[in-house]
Amino acid sequence: MRYALVTGGSRGIGRAVSLRLAQSGLPVVVNYVNNEVAADETLALIRQAGGQAEKLRFDVASPEAVEEALARWSEAHPEDFFSVLVNNAGIRRDNLMVFMQNEEWHSVMDTTMGGFFYVTRRLLKDMITHREGRIVNMASLSGLKGMAGQVNYSAAKAALIGATRALALELAPRRITVNAVAPGFIETDMTRDLDREALKRLIPARRFGRPEEVAALVAFLTSPEASYITGQVIAADGGMN
Ligand code: NAP
Repeated sequence: MRYALVTGGSRGIGRAVSLRLAQSGLPVVVNYVNNEVAADETLALIRQAGGQAEKLRFDVASPEAVEEALARWSEAHPEDFFSVLVNNAGIRRDNLMVFMQNEEWHSVMDTTMGGFFYVTRRLLKDMITHREGRIVNMASLSGLKGMAGQVNYSAAKAALIGATRALALELAPRRITVNAVAPGFIETDMTRDLDREALKRLIPARRFGRPEEVAALVAFLTSPEASYITGQVIAADGGMN
């Protein structure tokens, strides 16, 4: 049976993506790292809507944790594989570069780029064997344009876009697509501390986006209809890009 894995599926955009993919009929594995209560809420929402889901805790930035959790999952699911992977887990540790600490740099790079690398490499073997797969990487407007105070985050998301384009070329002959989504300002915990009223004036659409609006794009990119779209970066940003 085919499954979808959504990293960072417990909250925000990842939760909306998990719900949307489950509605399309795929059983979804909801990854999280700390917030088990939120992961359980996501599972409950999916089940209420008639979908199937399970949770899987691991830190995407830890190669050992990724390997251990996904090996355990495969042992429990010998007939199943992940045909859809959404690399969504991400963090912000904003600071002006002149003040930026090593930990702020490395934690953001490790979560975004390490997470992409460790999780995707692990799932690729099965996708290649089945000659079927959809990979969507959660980039950001910050990775397209650069944002002051986010040198670490912009670098990580720009690297993710480069990796998306390169991996798409490797996998296109094997019928696996790799695309990136670049949200602008979306209403989630990650943007809770921002001055939303001030920022809205900078957004052509004059509002923040909703997680469901990003999830709709991810759902399309993972659908059979998107089989000829690969190596692309598609923004969902109310016109900011
Ligand atoms: P969020 O509400 O802060 O949720 C972050 C999610 O990532 C949570 O599920 C969290 O799990 C998980 N996570 C964090 N570090 C992890 C790790 N090391 N291993 C596994 N899971 C981890 O964030 P969001 O706003 O939904 O953002 C989701 C993605 O979209 C991120 O990649 C972010 O950079 C990107 N993005 C967001 C915006 C925006 O405006 N919100 C804009 C552009 C791009 P726990 O619940 O266990 O903590």
